[in-house]
Amino acid sequence: MKHKPLITRAQLRRRIAALGRTISQDYAGKRPVLVGVLRGSFVFLADLIREIDVPVEVDFISVESYGNATTSSGVVRMLQDLNTSIKGRHVILVEDIVDTGLTLHYLIDNLRTREPASLVVCALLDKHQKRKIKVPLKYAGFVIPDKFVVGYGLDHAQLHRNIPHISWIEEQ
Ligand code: 5GP
Repeated sequence: MKHKPLITRAQLRRRIAALGRTISQDYAGKRPVLVGVLRGSFVFLADLIREIDVPVEVDFISVESYGNATTSSGVVRMLQDLNTSIKGRHVILVEDIVDTGLTLHYLIDNLRTREPASLVVCALLDKHQKRKIKVPLKYAGFVIPDKFVVGYGLDHAQLHRNIPHISWIEEQ
């Protein structure tokens, strides 16, 4: 298995700074709750909040959609729920990557029932070639080709989350 760099640390830094600036402008005077989808989004979320200069709160939700395979099962299971109520709050759902859209669709449906004041999605990576269901991405970092990627929080069989850039895996 070989790793090939796809998005460098410098590219990540620049794009995330821009996302942070846009979010700060859009939420001026508000106090949004950023909901990180575990586990893949934790590195992105950690960098993103440091580029936002309005007061933010952070919570996490954990879902399972892939197991250890590199193709979507289509089955989404809630592993860990939020700790706080989002009723009446401005929520930004922070995802690592959107592929088929099934995970995000499930999460949006689930969080909407809790009556937030607003709910938008910020995804670092958009792999839209295999999209099965339309999902609204208000903020997106990079559109990438249909390759399985790792690093910067994203794993393959729980490994490679600590690679500081985004790589793609070439099966040999
Ligand atoms: P979807 O439900 O949109 O097909 O997949 C979303 C989830 O699948 C992501 O949150 C992520 O956990 C996983 N996933 C999709 N594509 C990739 C990929 O290229 N690399 C990794 N590591 N995970 C992926």
